[in-house]
Parts: sequence; structure tokens; C-alpha cells
Amino acid sequence: MRFAEHEHHHQSATPMAQRVSALIARIEAVGMTSDAEISDVLERFLASASPANGAKLVARAWVEPAFKALLLEDASAALERLAIDMSHWAPVRLQAVENSALLHNVIVCTLCSCYPIALLGPPPTWYKSEAYRSRVVREPRAMLAEFGVTLGSGVEVRVWDSTAELRYIVVPERPVGTDGWTQERLASLITRDALIGVARPSLQVAGAGADP
Ligand code: FE
Repeated sequence: MRFAEHEHHHQSATPMAQRVSALIARIEAVGMTSDAEISDVLERFLASASPANGAKLVARAWVEPAFKALLLEDASAALERLAIDMSHWAPVRLQAVENSALLHNVIVCTLCSCYPIALLGPPPTWYKSEAYRSRVVREPRAMLAEFGVTLGSGVEVRVWDSTAELRYIVVPERPVGTDGWTQERLASLITRDALIGVARPSLQVAGAGADP
């Protein structure tokens, strides 16, 4: 193993970006990949990674009961129907968790920042913060209230801890007053934060309630 020939220093003060660059340089040095190959994979992945994908998925579930059943039963199969590719450099399984009047779901990665990037876009800074990762587990109701989601005592809260192999997406409740709306218009109500579980879709979202 050629890596073993190198002296290994652990410098916790080294910024993460520098450590990643050093790792990539070593991988390239042994011919496992090239800078161009890495850039290409990243570009293709990030070009399509957007909360619009998650919104499209949930809007379809709102209007089509059979699709919602499939999404909750086998989210990966539901993604295939919409031709959304969640696999990138490694296979990832998706599980959809549905909110109701009596149950509120919220997602976190207590270890780092795992999350379905293909469906939600890059994770926000607060999602990666130690404060969110620890508090949403210890005191989810207080944490959610700070995001503006207040829950009655009769509402159960479930916190889903993501891993590298298993990611979650929240299926929020469809707001009242949206009967007859098209999928596209419904999708405009569904924000990244609602898909994480720290917001509720609302007709108050700027522009969303306006007639097309
Ligand atoms: Fe993580």
C-alpha cells in the first residue's frame, strides 16, 4: 500500500478544504481518478440538484394518491417514475416520511450533514451546525418553534437521523385552500425547509398564492 509510505500527521487545526485537497492530490497521484473526472462528476451532479426536484415529488404525491402510496412505500421507485437520479458517487436509499395533523417529522444528520442533495440542493449552513444537529434531537419542539413551527402538545414529533446510505425527505401536509391547483402551482408552495421539516408550506409564500 503506497499510502503507508507517507508519514501521517493529524492536524485538527487544518481547515477541512485543505485536508480534502490533500486527499484528492494523493488519490490522483496513484492514478485512481483525475481532477477533470472529479469536476465532471460534481458538475453533472450539482447541475440537477435542486429543491425543485423535492417539490415536484411532493406535489405529485399531493394530487395522486397512488403515487403518494408508492412514495411512502418505496421512495426510490417513485423517484424513478419522475426520472430523478439520486445515485451519484454512491448508491443512496431514500425514505419519505409524511406529516399529518397528529405527527410532525423533521430530518437531521447528527454525525455530519447527510441529506438528499439531489432533491433539496446543497444543505444550508444551519443544517450542518452543531447547534441544530444536537438541539433538534434533545429539544425538537423548542428548535422547531425557533423556525416558526409551533406544535400542539397532541402532535407527536419524530426526528429522523440520516446516514450516508439512507436519507429522508418530509412529505408536508397539503395546505387547505389549494383544491384544484395544478401540480406546478402546488410545487411553488413547497420550500426546501418544508422538505426538511422546519417549515410548513403556506399560501403566504411570496407569489405562490397569486393566480397564474
Ligand atoms: Fe452526514
